[in-house]
Amino acid sequence: MKLTRNARLILEKRYLRKENGVPVETPEEMFMRVARAVAFAEKKLNPNLSEDKLEEYIERFYTLMTSLDFLPNSPTLMNAGRELGQLSACFVLPVEDSMEAIFTALKDAALIHKSGGGTGFSFSRLRPKNSPVRSTGGIASGPVSFMKVFNAATEAIKQGGTRRGANMGILRVDHPDILEFIRCKEDNNELTNFNISVALTKEFMEALARDDYYELKFGGKVYQKLKAREVFDEIVSHAWANGEPGIIFLDRLNEGNPTPELGEIEATNPCGEQPLLPYEACNLGSINLSHMVEDGRILWDKLADTVYWSVRFLDNVIEVNQFPIEKITEMVRGNRKIGLGVMGWADMLFKLKVPYDSEEAVDLGYKLMSFIQKEAVKASESLAEERGSFPNIEKSIYRGKKRRNATCTTIAPTGTISMIAGTTSGIEPVFALAYTKNVLDGTSLTEVNPVFEEYVRSNFSPKEAEQIIARVAITGNVRDIAEIPPEVKRVFVTALEIAPEWHIRMQAAFQRATDNAVSKTVNFPPTATKEDVRRVFELAYELGCKGVTVYRSGSRESQVYVTGTQS
Ligand code: ADP
Repeated sequence: MKLTRNARLILEKRYLRKENGVPVETPEEMFMRVARAVAFAEKKLNPNLSEDKLEEYIERFYTLMTSLDFLPNSPTLMNAGRELGQLSACFVLPVEDSMEAIFTALKDAALIHKSGGGTGFSFSRLRPKNSPVRSTGGIASGPVSFMKVFNAATEAIKQGGTRRGANMGILRVDHPDILEFIRCKEDNNELTNFNISVALTKEFMEALARDDYYELKFGGKVYQKLKAREVFDEIVSHAWANGEPGIIFLDRLNEGNPTPELGEIEATNPCGEQPLLPYEACNLGSINLSHMVEDGRILWDKLADTVYWSVRFLDNVIEVNQFPIEKITEMVRGNRKIGLGVMGWADMLFKLKVPYDSEEAVDLGYKLMSFIQKEAVKASESLAEERGSFPNIEKSIYRGKKRRNATCTTIAPTGTISMIAGTTSGIEPVFALAYTKNVLDGTSLTEVNPVFEEYVRSNFSPKEAEQIIARVAITGNVRDIAEIPPEVKRVFVTALEIAPEWHIRMQAAFQRATDNAVSKTVNFPPTATKEDVRRVFELAYELGCKGVTVYRSGSRESQVYVTGTQS
């Protein structure tokens, strides 16, 4: 297998099966373990399947992964064919307004974190701070105080789990405690195991457009009226200050809800790309786009074939997945949501010589994702012919049709799997062409983007190439490298050189062809203003995004990406 040194390090640290702290499988053996576990679904669904045919499926899935053309989300790699057997990355749990329900959610979250999954919650059902508690005569402490309990539990569990544990906390913009919520991560050391997002309603967005007031309400009672603009500005200021909170457009998430009869969507998973109903889970997988291009052309046939096998793979995962909570098993088996997405989009653009911040790239993004979406649905329909539609289909927007999965596509961040595949993450532009990255508990790795490295090595002498790479590693970009011609500089553009509007336009292009949502961080330079952030939030709403996350470089003490002094 062609794995980078970094990829091997990551696999050894967290993914390979270990005994007494020492890996007892090779990366190839890990992929074989996963391929066998996933192919087992073929046998489960078709007991007459011959041994030869089963071996063929195993081989298919093994090659799909070892070629690095596709990788499933981390929990599948870590847990398939092992005792835990929990293979999904994304969960949403309900938090109802009673002590019993709150602590049931906490326990469920703990079990999910232990298996490497991330959990999202809406805290909107919890009564506001200072509301009476009937049975005790006391007063309630409100959603934010309970989030702190969830945060502390996550902190304790991460010591023993496979991953550090991640949560998404969501509050509706019309909850009476919304201002406290918006401010709850002002201190970077608070709620460190949570991402937070404000759920903006259509009503709120309309009040904002009219520059009007809107109501904060709970349990049928109006608590207060606030100026929408003032609350929006508060969100913007906080997002500008340290990236939190993000926003999600609640009504839009529900317009995309394939099973409205089964409930309303109130939350997403930790990174925002997967809206789910309470007790739903979703398993993700991503196609490596940098492998779908050759000699400056997109390999459409290879892509179609990869989509088919990836969808089959992800549908199989549902069949062999073991969840720690029975209600989740029921929901997942009923809707069979999968989330096929992409990684390596920036690498693909480099290879195609198309600058990320161009009309051409945005149009191509839409065209490419539409193709993947169409092929994924085709695969899901053919699986429905073979295996039946998802059981809740008659309660879904696909009533009367054939489809194996209530959703097919999601654009995940691919934070770790893109490192294993040795490509750029999700649909993000490259943050730096050469950089040092802190991963997994403080280890730091220096990396050069492979497409850039190839360009440099094939256009300059070995000595010049070394010098150029060393200089690029300081700033992360090629702006000041005189040896590189302007048209090449234009292609190798990095995240902070790209105007925020282009980030959003790219997100919107992919969103238009994606069932679920798109994980994307709009990166701002340190000098960006609150006005810049506000414009991006509004543009995201205008262009049909389901949510937005922003990050202004340098605004949090410990950053994931580190480049030299100038960025
Ligand atoms: P990976 O590359 O490891 O497969 P992604 O970066 O694509 O994962 O994240 C996908 C989803 O996985 C996230 O939105 C979140 O739901 C979950 N997730 C990511 N990191 C963690 C973590 N440390 N703990 C728990 N869940 C996580």
